[in-house]
Amino acid sequence: MNSAIIQENILQVQQRIETAASDACRNSSEIRLLAVSKTRSAQEIMAAYHSGQTAFGENYVAEAIEKITTLADYPLEWHYIGGIQSNKSRLIAAHFSWVHTIASLKHAQRLHQQRPAELPRLNSCIQVNISHEHSKGGVMEDEVLPLAREIAQLGRLRLRGLMALPAATTDYEKQRKNFSILRKLSDKLQSEGIELDTLSMGMSNDMEAAIAEGATIVRIGTAIFGPRT
Ligand SMILES: *Cc1c(COP(=O)(O)O)cnc(C)c1O
Repeated sequence: MNSAIIQENILQVQQRIETAASDACRNSSEIRLLAVSKTRSAQEIMAAYHSGQTAFGENYVAEAIEKITTLADYPLEWHYIGGIQSNKSRLIAAHFSWVHTIASLKHAQRLHQQRPAELPRLNSCIQVNISHEHSKGGVMEDEVLPLAREIAQLGRLRLRGLMALPAATTDYEKQRKNFSILRKLSDKLQSEGIELDTLSMGMSNDMEAAIAEGATIVRIGTAIFGPRT
Protein backbone atom coordinates (compact mmCIF):
# COMPACT_ATOMS: atom_id res chain seq x y z
CA MET A 1 0.00 0.00 0.00
CA ASN A 2 1.00 3.58 -0.76
CA SER A 3 3.10 5.30 1.93
CA ALA A 4 0.89 8.38 2.20
CA ILE A 5 -2.14 6.19 2.94
CA ILE A 6 -0.24 4.21 5.59
CA GLN A 7 0.82 7.46 7.25
CA GLU A 8 -2.75 8.79 7.16
CA ASN A 9 -4.01 5.48 8.62
CA ILE A 10 -1.49 5.66 11.47
CA LEU A 11 -2.77 9.12 12.39
CA GLN A 12 -6.34 7.79 12.36
CA VAL A 13 -5.44 4.82 14.56
CA GLN A 14 -3.63 7.12 16.99
CA GLN A 15 -6.76 9.26 17.09
CA ARG A 16 -8.92 6.19 17.80
CA ILE A 17 -6.58 5.31 20.69
CA GLU A 18 -6.83 8.86 22.05
CA THR A 19 -10.62 8.87 21.87
CA ALA A 20 -11.03 5.41 23.39
CA ALA A 21 -8.59 6.25 26.19
CA SER A 22 -10.34 9.49 26.99
CA ASP A 23 -13.76 7.74 26.96
CA ALA A 24 -12.34 5.25 29.47
CA CYS A 25 -10.76 8.03 31.59
CA ARG A 26 -7.35 6.59 30.81
CA ASN A 27 -4.16 8.31 29.76
CA SER A 28 -3.35 7.33 26.16
CA SER A 29 0.34 7.18 27.05
CA GLU A 30 -0.46 3.87 28.83
CA ILE A 31 -1.47 2.31 25.51
CA ARG A 32 1.13 1.22 22.96
CA LEU A 33 0.35 0.74 19.32
CA LEU A 34 1.84 -2.43 17.88
CA ALA A 35 1.70 -2.31 14.08
CA VAL A 36 1.03 -5.84 12.83
CA SER A 37 3.13 -6.15 9.69
CA LYS A 38 2.64 -9.80 8.69
CA THR A 39 2.51 -10.13 4.88
CA ARG A 40 3.64 -6.47 4.50
CA SER A 41 6.84 -5.41 2.79
CA ALA A 42 9.87 -3.69 4.32
CA GLN A 43 8.84 -0.55 2.38
CA GLU A 44 5.40 -0.55 4.03
CA ILE A 45 7.07 -0.92 7.43
CA MET A 46 9.34 2.03 6.59
CA ALA A 47 6.29 4.14 5.73
CA ALA A 48 4.92 3.46 9.21
CA TYR A 49 8.33 4.14 10.76
CA HIS A 50 8.40 7.57 9.11
CA SER A 51 5.18 8.31 11.04
CA GLY A 52 6.99 7.52 14.26
CA GLN A 53 5.90 3.87 14.55
CA THR A 54 8.68 1.68 15.98
CA ALA A 55 6.97 -1.47 17.34
CA PHE A 56 6.02 -4.13 14.81
CA GLY A 57 4.31 -7.49 15.25
CA GLU A 58 4.98 -10.51 13.06
CA ASN A 59 3.38 -13.97 12.87
CA TYR A 60 5.64 -15.99 10.58
CA VAL A 61 9.23 -16.56 11.68
CA ALA A 62 11.02 -16.85 8.31
CA GLU A 63 9.15 -13.91 6.80
CA ALA A 64 9.83 -11.81 9.90
CA ILE A 65 13.55 -12.55 10.02
CA GLU A 66 13.94 -11.47 6.41
CA LYS A 67 12.44 -8.07 7.26
CA ILE A 68 14.27 -7.78 10.60
CA THR A 69 17.55 -8.36 8.74
CA THR A 70 16.72 -5.91 5.94
CA LEU A 71 15.75 -3.21 8.46
CA ALA A 72 18.51 -3.90 11.00
CA ASP A 73 19.85 -0.32 10.79
CA TYR A 74 16.58 1.16 12.12
CA PRO A 75 15.65 1.28 15.81
CA LEU A 76 12.64 -1.03 15.48
CA GLU A 77 11.21 -3.28 18.19
CA TRP A 78 9.97 -6.65 16.97
CA HIS A 79 7.18 -8.60 18.66
CA TYR A 80 6.41 -12.22 17.84
CA ILE A 81 2.63 -12.73 17.87
CA GLY A 82 2.27 -15.99 15.92
CA GLY A 83 1.87 -19.52 17.18
CA ILE A 84 5.12 -20.98 18.55
CA GLN A 85 6.52 -24.16 17.05
CA SER A 86 9.34 -25.87 18.96
CA ASN A 87 11.62 -25.98 15.94
CA LYS A 88 11.33 -22.17 15.57
CA SER A 89 11.85 -21.18 19.19
CA ARG A 90 15.60 -20.59 18.79
CA LEU A 91 15.00 -18.06 16.00
CA ILE A 92 12.28 -16.32 18.02
CA ALA A 93 14.58 -16.11 21.05
CA ALA A 94 17.39 -14.63 18.93
CA HIS A 95 15.50 -12.07 16.85
CA PHE A 96 12.60 -10.64 18.86
CA SER A 97 12.26 -8.32 21.88
CA TRP A 98 8.83 -9.62 22.80
CA VAL A 99 6.84 -12.81 22.44
CA HIS A 100 3.08 -12.56 23.08
CA THR A 101 2.05 -16.16 22.51
CA ILE A 102 3.58 -18.42 25.14
CA ALA A 103 1.09 -21.19 25.81
CA SER A 104 3.16 -23.98 27.35
CA LEU A 105 5.92 -24.42 29.90
CA LYS A 106 7.90 -26.39 27.32
CA HIS A 107 7.99 -23.41 24.95
CA ALA A 108 8.79 -21.00 27.80
CA GLN A 109 11.72 -23.19 28.89
CA ARG A 110 13.07 -23.43 25.36
CA LEU A 111 12.88 -19.65 24.87
CA HIS A 112 14.61 -19.14 28.25
CA GLN A 113 17.41 -21.58 27.35
CA GLN A 114 17.83 -20.17 23.85
CA ARG A 115 17.73 -16.45 24.62
CA PRO A 116 21.23 -15.21 23.70
CA ALA A 117 23.23 -14.06 26.73
CA GLU A 118 24.12 -10.69 25.18
CA LEU A 119 20.45 -9.71 24.73
CA PRO A 120 18.16 -8.35 27.45
CA ARG A 121 15.52 -10.67 28.87
CA LEU A 122 12.80 -11.64 26.40
CA ASN A 123 9.57 -9.77 27.24
CA SER A 124 6.89 -12.43 27.45
CA CYS A 125 3.13 -12.72 27.57
CA ILE A 126 1.01 -15.79 28.16
CA GLN A 127 -1.66 -16.28 25.52
CA VAL A 128 -5.04 -17.17 27.02
CA ASN A 129 -7.74 -18.94 25.02
CA ILE A 130 -10.66 -16.95 26.39
CA SER A 131 -13.14 -18.00 23.71
CA HIS A 132 -12.25 -21.70 24.13
CA GLU A 133 -11.79 -22.10 20.40
CA HIS A 134 -9.76 -25.11 19.31
CA SER A 135 -8.43 -23.24 16.31
CA LYS A 136 -6.80 -20.60 18.51
CA GLY A 137 -3.73 -21.08 20.62
CA GLY A 138 -3.51 -20.25 24.27
CA VAL A 139 -3.93 -21.86 27.64
CA MET A 140 -7.23 -22.26 29.45
CA GLU A 141 -7.96 -19.81 32.23
CA ASP A 142 -7.27 -22.24 35.08
CA GLU A 143 -3.81 -23.00 33.67
CA VAL A 144 -2.64 -19.38 33.64
CA LEU A 145 -1.61 -18.95 37.29
CA PRO A 146 0.54 -22.12 37.50
CA LEU A 147 2.20 -21.30 34.16
CA ALA A 148 2.85 -17.70 35.23
CA ARG A 149 4.50 -18.93 38.44
CA GLU A 150 6.84 -21.17 36.42
CA ILE A 151 7.69 -18.47 33.87
CA ALA A 152 8.44 -15.98 36.62
CA GLN A 153 11.30 -18.33 37.65
CA LEU A 154 12.92 -18.31 34.20
CA GLY A 155 15.69 -15.72 34.38
CA ARG A 156 16.07 -15.08 30.65
CA LEU A 157 12.36 -14.27 30.27
CA ARG A 158 10.61 -11.23 31.69
CA LEU A 159 6.97 -12.03 32.26
CA ARG A 160 5.03 -8.91 31.29
CA GLY A 161 1.39 -9.98 31.06
CA LEU A 162 -1.39 -11.70 29.19
CA MET A 163 -2.49 -11.76 25.58
CA ALA A 164 -5.73 -12.88 23.94
CA LEU A 165 -7.25 -13.17 20.51
CA PRO A 166 -10.96 -13.63 21.25
CA ALA A 167 -13.51 -14.91 18.74
CA ALA A 168 -14.33 -12.14 16.28
CA THR A 169 -17.61 -10.37 16.93
CA THR A 170 -18.92 -6.94 15.95
CA ASP A 171 -21.01 -6.71 19.13
CA TYR A 172 -19.30 -4.15 21.37
CA GLU A 173 -20.70 -5.58 24.62
CA LYS A 174 -19.52 -9.10 23.72
CA GLN A 175 -16.08 -7.73 22.84
CA ARG A 176 -15.89 -6.04 26.23
CA LYS A 177 -17.04 -9.15 28.03
CA ASN A 178 -14.25 -11.20 26.44
CA PHE A 179 -11.59 -8.62 27.21
CA SER A 180 -12.84 -8.27 30.77
CA ILE A 181 -12.06 -11.97 31.31
CA LEU A 182 -8.41 -11.26 30.49
CA ARG A 183 -8.33 -8.17 32.70
CA LYS A 184 -9.80 -10.06 35.66
CA LEU A 185 -7.30 -12.87 35.20
CA SER A 186 -4.49 -10.33 35.22
CA ASP A 187 -5.87 -8.76 38.41
CA LYS A 188 -6.04 -12.20 40.01
CA LEU A 189 -2.43 -13.01 39.13
CA GLN A 190 -1.32 -9.68 40.56
CA SER A 191 -3.22 -10.35 43.77
CA GLU A 192 -1.22 -13.61 43.96
CA GLY A 193 2.02 -11.61 43.89
CA ILE A 194 2.89 -11.90 40.20
CA GLU A 195 3.96 -8.55 38.80
CA LEU A 196 2.43 -7.74 35.41
CA ASP A 197 2.16 -4.53 33.43
CA THR A 198 0.81 -5.68 30.07
CA LEU A 199 -2.53 -6.62 28.58
CA SER A 200 -2.03 -7.33 24.88
CA MET A 201 -5.52 -7.21 23.44
CA GLY A 202 -7.49 -5.41 20.74
CA MET A 203 -7.15 -5.45 16.95
CA SER A 204 -8.48 -3.25 14.14
CA ASN A 205 -12.13 -4.12 14.77
CA ASP A 206 -12.24 -4.23 18.56
CA MET A 207 -9.55 -1.90 19.89
CA GLU A 208 -12.06 0.47 21.53
CA ALA A 209 -13.54 -2.34 23.65
CA ALA A 210 -10.05 -3.57 24.54
CA ILE A 211 -8.95 -0.10 25.65
CA ALA A 212 -12.12 0.25 27.73
CA GLU A 213 -11.09 -3.00 29.50
CA GLY A 214 -7.51 -1.94 30.15
CA ALA A 215 -5.45 -2.93 27.09
CA THR A 216 -1.86 -1.64 27.26
CA ILE A 217 -0.84 -2.96 23.82
CA VAL A 218 -3.24 -2.96 20.88
CA ARG A 219 -2.16 -5.05 17.86
CA ILE A 220 -3.32 -3.33 14.69
CA GLY A 221 -2.80 -4.59 11.14
CA THR A 222 -5.66 -3.87 8.73
CA ALA A 223 -6.46 -0.38 10.00
CA ILE A 224 -2.86 0.66 9.26
CA PHE A 225 -1.87 -1.33 6.18
CA GLY A 226 -5.25 -2.10 4.58
CA PRO A 227 -6.85 -5.51 4.05
CA ARG A 228 -4.51 -8.50 3.71
CA THR A 229 -4.69 -10.27 0.37
C1 LIG B 1 -3.13 -10.46 12.30
C2 LIG B 1 -3.16 -10.27 13.78
C3 LIG B 1 -3.53 -9.03 14.34
C4 LIG B 1 -3.99 -7.84 13.54
O1 LIG B 1 -5.31 -8.01 13.11
P1 LIG B 1 -6.08 -6.84 12.30
O2 LIG B 1 -7.50 -7.28 12.39
O3 LIG B 1 -5.54 -6.87 10.91
O4 LIG B 1 -5.82 -5.56 13.00
C5 LIG B 1 -3.46 -8.92 15.72
N1 LIG B 1 -3.07 -9.93 16.50
C6 LIG B 1 -2.71 -11.13 16.00
C7 LIG B 1 -2.28 -12.21 16.92
C8 LIG B 1 -2.76 -11.34 14.62
O5 LIG B 1 -2.42 -12.54 14.14
